Amino acid sequence: MSASEATLRADIVEIGRRLYARGYVASNDGNISVRLDGARLLMTPAGVSKGFMTPEMMVVTDFEGRVVGGEGGRRPSTEIQMHLAAYRERPDVQAVVHAHPPLATGFAVAGIALDRAMLAEVVTTLGSIPIAEYGTPSTKELPAAVAKFVKAHDGMLLANHGALALGKDLFSAYYKMETIEHAANITLVARLLGREHLLSRDEVRRLQELRGNYGIASPAPICADDVSGSGDTCQVVFAPDSANRLVPVVPGAEDRIQLTYRELTALIEDAVKAITKD
Ligand SMILES: [Zn+2]
Repeated sequence: MSASEATLRADIVEIGRRLYARGYVASNDGNISVRLDGARLLMTPAGVSKGFMTPEMMVVTDFEGRVVGGEGGRRPSTEIQMHLAAYRERPDVQAVVHAHPPLATGFAVAGIALDRAMLAEVVTTLGSIPIAEYGTPSTKELPAAVAKFVKAHDGMLLANHGALALGKDLFSAYYKMETIEHAANITLVARLLGREHLLSRDEVRRLQELRGNYGIASPAPICADDVSGSGDTCQVVFAPDSANRLVPVVPGAEDRIQLTYRELTALIEDAVKAITKD
């Protein structure tokens, strides 16, 4: 085993310990992975409390999720496909952390995204934190739901499940998980207090421009519209188009009907005629 692999195993153990100590996971919940090289992944094992792992417990898999190494015959986490989806979509991502931190998961259960420009730190590091739609754990549904958002987001809530964070190394992914839970905590307090003063659109732009100074290269869009606090929950997220450019996407837009002024006028005239006929 190389020195760097030994370090990565020790880092996973430490992050598992922190996730458990902070109450971000219960029982055997949660999972952590990191790229070992271009062909292999180091992953937490299934059926183990993340608070009490040892370095030799980790499982080595390929990027199809097949076990290619690891002592003790352990199986990788049942959520490995969700991790693989993240690595497939984001070559820049080196590590993935998944947990069920209670406040962020509460927002995920309530269906409330953390996508309003409330905190400078969050705007700078994560942009908005959307909710990936619900998928049955350990099925293909969850990786598919996550794949929709990972191109543009380093952190997301998973509906009725938990949260996911990506990073350029293990600790950066873990710290993003902390930021997600911290943002959920502060958002909850602000809403309990009954007021949310959002950052202005100009300030959001300034913060996003600062990201390069902090060495943050990954995308982190905040909603493009309505950061002024007019009341509507921001619904604008970004997703890659066919040319891999990030473009705003309005969830549910496919359900909307767009009419020209003339078409709308004709519809109203028809309706009025129908009403006044008898
Ligand atoms: Zn989970």
